[in-house]
Amino acid sequence: MTENNEFPKAYEPQNHEDKIYNTWLESGLFNPDNLPGERTENFSMVLPPPNVTGTLHLGHAVMLAIEDIMTRFARMRGKRALWVPGTDHAAIATQTKVEKLLIKEGIEDPRRTLGREEFLNRVKKFASESHDTIVHQTKKMGASLDWSRECYTLDEDRNKAVNTVFKMMYEDGLIYRGHRVINWCPRCKSTLADDEVQHKETTGKFYTFKYDKNFPISISTTRPETKLGDTAVAIHPADERYQKYIGQTIAADFCGQKLNIKIISDEEVDPAFGTGALGVTPSHSQIDAEMAYKNDLTFVTVIGEDGNMTPEAGSFSGLSALTARQKIVEILEEQGLLEKIEDVPQNLSICYRCESTIEPLPKLQWFIGVNRPFKFHASTHAPIEGIIEGQEVTLKQLMQHVVRTNQIKIVPEQFVNTYFHWIDNLRDWNISRQIWFGHQVPVWYRENEIVVGSEPQGDDWKRDEDTLDTWFSSGLWTFSTLGWPDKTKDFEMFHPNTIMETGYDILFFWVSRMILMTTYAIGEVPFKNVYLHGLVRDEQGRKMSKSLGNVIDPLLMIEKYGADATRLSLVVGTSPGNDMKMSEEKIAGYRNFTNKLWNIARYVLTTVGEVKGFEGKEREGKTLADKWILGRLSEVVEKVTSHLEKYEFSQAGELLRDFTWSDFADWYLEISKVQKKQPELVASTDAVLLFVLETLLKLWHPFMPFVTEELWKNFGSEKMLIVENWPKFEQKENTQDKIRFERLKEIIEKIRNWRAENKVEPKEKINLSLIVGEYFEIFKDTVSLEAIKVLARVENLVIDESAEKNFDYQFKIDRQIDSGKERERLEKELSEVQKYLVDLDGKLANEEFTSKAPAKVVESMKQKKEEAAKKAEALSQQLKNI
Ligand SMILES: [Zn+2]
Repeated sequence: MTENNEFPKAYEPQNHEDKIYNTWLESGLFNPDNLPGERTENFSMVLPPPNVTGTLHLGHAVMLAIEDIMTRFARMRGKRALWVPGTDHAAIATQTKVEKLLIKEGIEDPRRTLGREEFLNRVKKFASESHDTIVHQTKKMGASLDWSRECYTLDEDRNKAVNTVFKMMYEDGLIYRGHRVINWCPRCKSTLADDEVQHKETTGKFYTFKYDKNFPISISTTRPETKLGDTAVAIHPADERYQKYIGQTIAADFCGQKLNIKIISDEEVDPAFGTGALGVTPSHSQIDAEMAYKNDLTFVTVIGEDGNMTPEAGSFSGLSALTARQKIVEILEEQGLLEKIEDVPQNLSICYRCESTIEPLPKLQWFIGVNRPFKFHASTHAPIEGIIEGQEVTLKQLMQHVVRTNQIKIVPEQFVNTYFHWIDNLRDWNISRQIWFGHQVPVWYRENEIVVGSEPQGDDWKRDEDTLDTWFSSGLWTFSTLGWPDKTKDFEMFHPNTIMETGYDILFFWVSRMILMTTYAIGEVPFKNVYLHGLVRDEQGRKMSKSLGNVIDPLLMIEKYGADATRLSLVVGTSPGNDMKMSEEKIAGYRNFTNKLWNIARYVLTTVGEVKGFEGKEREGKTLADKWILGRLSEVVEKVTSHLEKYEFSQAGELLRDFTWSDFADWYLEISKVQKKQPELVASTDAVLLFVLETLLKLWHPFMPFVTEELWKNFGSEKMLIVENWPKFEQKENTQDKIRFERLKEIIEKIRNWRAENKVEPKEKINLSLIVGEYFEIFKDTVSLEAIKVLARVENLVIDESAEKNFDYQFKIDRQIDSGKERERLEKELSEVQKYLVDLDGKLANEEFTSKAPAKVVESMKQKKEEAAKKAEALSQQLKNI
């Protein structure tokens, strides 16, 4: 606002947000190196890098809102605040997405059609466009990220970090190559980590049969086609039914396939499940593979990577698994071997990217051994407590240690147990993927030679074709973004990160893998705190999805209601770890609130004398209302600060909203108008108004950066609000003042309620006499008395001091009536009644009418005449009384 310009009546976010964001960008203040003043404390955080697969959704918006609040709060508190942006190449997700797009364009089997190089070019082009969209959208949310430090999980510097860690782990014996039964997605044509496998409840058929008519034991399975690869039958060691067979190897002819079945005993077998005997298929089940290693069983792979039967499946070779199953069931039926088919609930394993059914099969893969001991690399920079250099530990132990000893704190706490439970069940991590988009495994082979880390000199070296699981590179994110393995100033200053903020749904995928990678490679924790937010759902608590049509697009919301309102709606009324319900109405509601703040500021700034040069003078306040609002403000500053320190964003926002709307706008602003009628109170009232507004803008800034920065311009400060100091205001609270003012509020509220109950129109003034005792002092104050009169619309206020000292208060209300208007109203009503009477008299005097009309009608008319006469009498009496 300038002196010549009108202060706009409403806040139009569209007119301001982009301009303000650009001003911040130009100021360079998102970069901690450029922050003013001496800053000794650090605050650092990485943005969980959004995948370059699409556009920003509400889940990202929640993350950006919460993290920006954290960062702005830290910056205003004088810390070197760094929030690092970046994007994730999301290997398998991006490749799958591009494949689908290419198929839509009519390119069948894109990988084979285009070849590695051209295919990768297409993926990179898509990733780059997607990156630009996401960055643009992130800026729209007002995120104060240091774009000069932006990273990408697949760029050169990150590749250096990936190869370095891979080599370290290989040399420590943690990374190994092995033939293991892995999760195979026949559609993605890649392995998946255990936690990339999702489960779907379905109904399956459970078949009970014998391999052949001579085989002594019946077995049950939902997948008869895999039985072509069986090499054992396992039974519980205590199961008496089958004791005599243990240790034998029995030949069987299973639908024409020659099997050699060893009868083994294993504690894992449930004797009450099915027939109590388990056909063991080492190649196509991870549990069976474990039994196979223990019992030295043969692996026979009957299903291939294309999901079809292999030559090892004999006459079934080339059939799809499903066709083979149907054929086997037919043969078993013909041979009279099928004992029963039951419908059973089945927990089907599916690919988390494309939902194809997972096929477990053995494959030569790279793994990280989580239970293998190695010699710990301690950090001298920010060492982990409790483990020393060279001490023998496993990755699992490290991951447990740092959380158990509180060197990493998780909010909300209930996720600590979830974390430990996950680690207990963690198996070796399969890190190689058969896709092209990603960090290629840094391993080169030449005959029996193998080189790990970087490309060797000489000819005939062949590089491993697989790429690494995307979580391998994002697991290094807290330190690879700071320039590691180079010893940079950034790394020295900002590692470990202060906090990791992300959705609880990626606690395992990502958070735990960062803990694994960082404690191993750096000997430090990646971050000191973890804050997990909930997922965004619709009003009915359903997941948002395209098919349900309930998706709320954050960009559209920003366009309609502004970024500030969108941010507030995602933060206030939510709690960590719990899912939140969102609706457009909620966002619209917060748009009204941003407008409310605008209007409050507009009123203050356009009614006070001089804004510039205001430096919070006269903070003591002169009146009861001044002292009360300053006391309340001091309480709010303290509580909001403490809530934000404890990551209680919603509580901080609710407190601020109630203070702004109720205490400041509804009460203090109104009373300030009364105060300013007394010339000697104008300057001090203005000072309080400005001071409260100034403090409020600072407190609101992390939540609503745009509208507060825009309003801040009116204060003529040299600094932008983004780097203003966080309020540290202390007003000695006077309890007496507080009680007195609350009492004044109470009286005004009671009178207002009385008016509402008695339907007294706002313009009508009333007379009030207050009988007072103990709290009499309140009413000696002319401002307070005037406040009652103005805020409760009282014409005459009489104070009756006759009550005893310890008497509280009581009030008597008289409606003050405008006699002229009342007479007019009564006269009008009387004349109407009299006219009616004349009419009735005339009818009753007409004999022709009375003789013909039914007696009942005549009787009723006489009654009406009597009533009307009485009413006329009463009205005449009221008129005399005036
Ligand atoms: Zn898949």
